[in-house]
Amino acid sequence: MKPTPNSGISDIAPYVGGKSTAKPGVKVIKLSSNETPLGASPEAIAAYLEAAKTLHRYPDGSAQKLREAIGEVYNLPAEQIICGAGSDELIGLLVHAYVSAGDEVLISQHGFLMYKIYAQSVGAKVVSAPEKDMKTDVDALLAHVTSKTKIVFVANPNNPTGSYISASEMKRLRAGLPENIILAIDGAYTEYSTKEDYTDGSELVAGSENTVILRTFSKIYGLPSIRIGWMYAPAPICDVINRIRGPFNVSTPAIMAAAAAVRDTEFTKNAKEFNNKWLAWMDTELKKLGLKPYPSIGNFLLVQFPSGKHSSSNANAYLMERGLIVREVANYGLPDCLRITIGLEEDNRAMISTLKEFLQ
Ligand SMILES: *Cc1c(COP(=O)(O)O)cnc(C)c1O
Repeated sequence: MKPTPNSGISDIAPYVGGKSTAKPGVKVIKLSSNETPLGASPEAIAAYLEAAKTLHRYPDGSAQKLREAIGEVYNLPAEQIICGAGSDELIGLLVHAYVSAGDEVLISQHGFLMYKIYAQSVGAKVVSAPEKDMKTDVDALLAHVTSKTKIVFVANPNNPTGSYISASEMKRLRAGLPENIILAIDGAYTEYSTKEDYTDGSELVAGSENTVILRTFSKIYGLPSIRIGWMYAPAPICDVINRIRGPFNVSTPAIMAAAAAVRDTEFTKNAKEFNNKWLAWMDTELKKLGLKPYPSIGNFLLVQFPSGKHSSSNANAYLMERGLIVREVANYGLPDCLRITIGLEEDNRAMISTLKEFLQ
C-alpha cells in the first residue's frame, strides 16, 4: 500500500505560470505574468533592505504595521484586514475554512484558475457559469447556485479576460445569493481601474457577514516576489481565518515593503497613468493589425487570433522565437487567444512590430 492523497487532489492540473525563458542568446521581454514593467516603489525597496537587520527575529504575526497602512490608505478598519502570502494563500485559507468534500465552489467560465485548484484540493466540485462576451454573467452565476454552494469567487476585473462587472451588477449578485454563501471578490487589478461604475466591492463587505474582498501587492505595487496580499472581511470571517492561518504566514521584509508601497500613493498613481496610456495604445494598435483585443481594465489584454496560418499558437511560437513571451490561455478554455501584459514603451512597440511581421 502506498500513501494516497485526499480525494480530488489527483484531479488537479498543476498551475502553469507565465514562461520566463526563450532561446539562449535572445533578449527576453516577459509579458506573460501581468507583472508591472515599472518595478516596485523605491520606498518599498528601501524598507525591504532595512528589514534585513531583523532577519533573526520572527515577524509580527498580526502584520499590524501593514494592516494599519492599508487601513489608512484605503480607509478601511485595520482589525478587519488579514494579510497572506499573496492573495493565493488567502483564497486557499477561505476554501479550507468553509468548503468540505462534496461541497461546491462557483466560479465564472473563464475565472482565475487558483479558485479551481484550491476547491479541488478539498474534494469540492467546481461549478462554472457560462460567460457572455468574455464577461462574468450575474444571472448565469445565480442560476448555478445550489444548496451545496459555499463560496462564489469573482475576479473583478477578471484574469485572463480583463473584463469587469459594474458596482450595481456586483450588488445584484450579492443580493441574489443566499446569505450562507460567501462572495469573494478578487481585486488583483483594482488599482488600475479608471471606470466610474467600477468598485472594489469594499462597500459590500461593510456591515455584511458573508462578503470579502481579496487584494494583492503582486500587480501594480510590483512585489510578487515577496508574496504578500490582503483580505478585508467581516469580523467573524477574520476570526475563523486567523485560527487556521500559520502564525507567521507573512515575513517581515514583506510586511515592511508592502506598508511602504501602499503609502507611496504617488508611485501608484504614476503606475496607473502609465498603464492606462499604454493599454489604450496597445488596444488601438492590435485592432489596426486586424486582431481582436477584448476590452480590459487591467494591465493586460486578451487577444483573439484567427484560425489557420495566423493562429494564436503560431503567433505564440513566432513571438517566442524572438524573445517576446506572452501567455497561452488554452487551459482557461481560450485556445484562440493569447494574453499580453502591458510592458515598457519599447516592449509594447516591439510586440506590435513583431506581430505585424507575423501577420504579413
Ligand atoms: C495575480 C492574481 C492574483 C494575485 O496572486 P498573488 O498570490 O497575490 O500573487 C490573484 N487573483 C488574480 C485574478 C490574479 O490575476
